[in-house]
Amino acid sequence: MPDQPNVAVVGAGVVGITVAKLLQDQLKDVKITILADKFTDDTTSHIAAGIYRPGTSFKGPTKEITKKWLKDSWEFFQDILKTPDAERIGVMPIGTYIFSSENYHVTRNHLIEDIVPLYRAVTDEELKLAPKGTKFGSYFSTLKLECGNYLPWTEKIIVERGGQLLNKKVKSFKSLSNYDLVFNCSGLGARYLCNDHDLVPIRGQVIKVKAPWVKHAMYGDYDTYIIPGLNGVVTLGGVRGYDSYNLNYCKYDAAAIMERCCEFLPSLKNAEVLAHKVGLRPHRLPVRVEPELIEGVKVVHCYGHGGYGVMTAPGTAMNAVDLGIDFLRSNVRNKL
Ligand SMILES: Cc1cc2nc3c(=O)[nH]c(=O)nc-3n(C[C@H](O)[C@H](O)[C@H](O)COP(=O)(O)OP(=O)(O)OC[C@H]3O[C@@H](n4cnc5c(N)ncnc54)[C@H](O)[C@@H]3O)c2cc1C
Repeated sequence: MPDQPNVAVVGAGVVGITVAKLLQDQLKDVKITILADKFTDDTTSHIAAGIYRPGTSFKGPTKEITKKWLKDSWEFFQDILKTPDAERIGVMPIGTYIFSSENYHVTRNHLIEDIVPLYRAVTDEELKLAPKGTKFGSYFSTLKLECGNYLPWTEKIIVERGGQLLNKKVKSFKSLSNYDLVFNCSGLGARYLCNDHDLVPIRGQVIKVKAPWVKHAMYGDYDTYIIPGLNGVVTLGGVRGYDSYNLNYCKYDAAAIMERCCEFLPSLKNAEVLAHKVGLRPHRLPVRVEPELIEGVKVVHCYGHGGYGVMTAPGTAMNAVDLGIDFLRSNVRNKL
């Protein structure tokens, strides 16, 4: 391995920023440059509510790896929660209800039931919190990460340790041949950088409202969710538009989201609307975390986290960093 490895990270969303910080934690003499055409508020990561609740179809290359990513991520956030800086970093614990009027199975989650400390069926009394006709429900204790806090906090540490943030669109990996190693954390941008047609956008739209009285997260049928965050800001959702590249705000989606959320919590009718946000989830099955030698450049991919990239960024980033360090140490010259 070179004495002072020169490493590029493509992407400044939650995945790229986490990879860069974790690599610095491991290699004190590493020289890191983060190259991205969008930073902080302009990334998809910043739109997400950031709740730790994977969809049950979330997956890595194997069941064991999927589970490890989820567990490592949970522990990463738990370590932050134990510190006095948790809120400043953007991590907060949150109790969550998931209800359904139709399908018992959507209230269960085999991926996290043995990770979170509490996952149980709701009581009859709690069932009344949901709209009339709701038959099934679970309650679990989880957490969420606000990227609005986490990204600037982590970027500051990276820069204080000598890392660089560069506003630049990367056209090819070949153009990065002056680096010893490249991490590809470009989210949906990987579709073009890698010509990866397995990577598909899933359009999302949310409403951010001020409703400090909302204390629990709630999920319901038809992709309805109410997720409180820091400073009384609550995220209302949502929609899932498969293979849609439309980043425009849709007033019909907004009206449907508001109607469904108010059915759950009528007090939301009085909430001040702060913003409407639209983002494209970088969906890929499985999420891609693997090394590849591309035209002589050592690249470690870490992209395709779909609707679960905030909560799984730490676990996948740890995996990517381990692969990257092995790659730096290897003399591989041929295609892996
Ligand atoms: C409405 C909505 C709600 C969501 N809710 C949740 C949730 O509750 N929990 C959860 O865990 N996840 C959630 N997600 C998903 C989450 O936002 C994504 O999985 C996550 O942000 C992916 O992070 P990323 O760093 O891979 O991508 P991004 O945040 O999109 O960052 C990609 C980075 O790569 C850069 N880039 C791309 N191509 C290039 C290039 N060629 N050259 C230079 N730079 C490039 C971009 O500029 C950007 O900096 C939600 C998403 C949406 C849209």
